[in-house]
Amino acid sequence: METYLGLDFGGTKMLIGELDKDGRILSSKRYVTGFDDQEKATKAILGNLEDYKKTIGFQGEIKAAGLGIVGIVDNKKGEWVAMSHEITAPPVPMAALMEANLHVPCAVDNDVRSATTAELMLGQGKSTLDFIYLNVGTGLAAGVVTGGHIIRGANHNAGEIGHMVVDLQSQRTCVCGRKGCAENVVSGIGFTSQLKHYGLTELLNEQDRADVVRLFERADAGDAICSKITDYAADTLACVIMNLVRYSDPDTVILGGGVIGDGWLLEKVKMRLEPDTMRGVTNGIVFSSFSPANAGLIGAASLGMQLTDRRNQYERCV
Ligand SMILES: [Zn+2]
Repeated sequence: METYLGLDFGGTKMLIGELDKDGRILSSKRYVTGFDDQEKATKAILGNLEDYKKTIGFQGEIKAAGLGIVGIVDNKKGEWVAMSHEITAPPVPMAALMEANLHVPCAVDNDVRSATTAELMLGQGKSTLDFIYLNVGTGLAAGVVTGGHIIRGANHNAGEIGHMVVDLQSQRTCVCGRKGCAENVVSGIGFTSQLKHYGLTELLNEQDRADVVRLFERADAGDAICSKITDYAADTLACVIMNLVRYSDPDTVILGGGVIGDGWLLEKVKMRLEPDTMRGVTNGIVFSSFSPANAGLIGAASLGMQLTDRRNQYERCV
């Protein structure tokens, strides 16, 4: 049986798993992460891969493997450039290190682009070449696909739309240095920051992050400040979606990420979308086919599938 290996490395956990060619997870194992430098993280990734081979092993014949990882990634060179938006060390040749271990073709990409690749190869993007994958999770970022290509940019930073300014009157300075960035309003980071701003610390969890389910419940119950926060988020997300639609003219908008996953926020967003702007989005706004818990792993494995898929030969050649 032809299978693909995925390595999904996030801020707090790493998943390694083997998938069949249709994206079904055959087996997987979770590891704890939490590193703040690339050298330690790289050692952990390769160590966990060794552990996986020993303790779980492979059910099929691995054709290719992929690593989805936080930060900046040069997909074409197979290099992990940086763990965050700041480049502090030389790039890590991640794909080559994995190939030396696994002896199959390996690819690496950042987490949102991995999820976008999963949609392109296996998910809602299979039937279209022009879509936007929008991840509303801890942060806010997008994978923009046009003509079957994922837009990457000169520095691998395309799609960082959380730093798109949508409120010119805002006085809140973002980590990027500008004011009025969307991520500070509609994302886990944004909700956390708003709750702290309004002193609603009882809606933060043990990790000091917004408990969005309880925030949404409070808004439903008529709490004025919670409604203000969620209305502002819905206004902002609707604005971001329409800006992106005007930019790349997709026929499908795919949503993923824990903040949007239960559909509560989307109902509010849909009420705010202008029909004229959205008329070309003929497939509408749809949810990712993958649960937030598995999306990263499926995304990582799909990077390996992409290496062997004819549909993406052009992208690999340019
Ligand atoms: Zn910003």
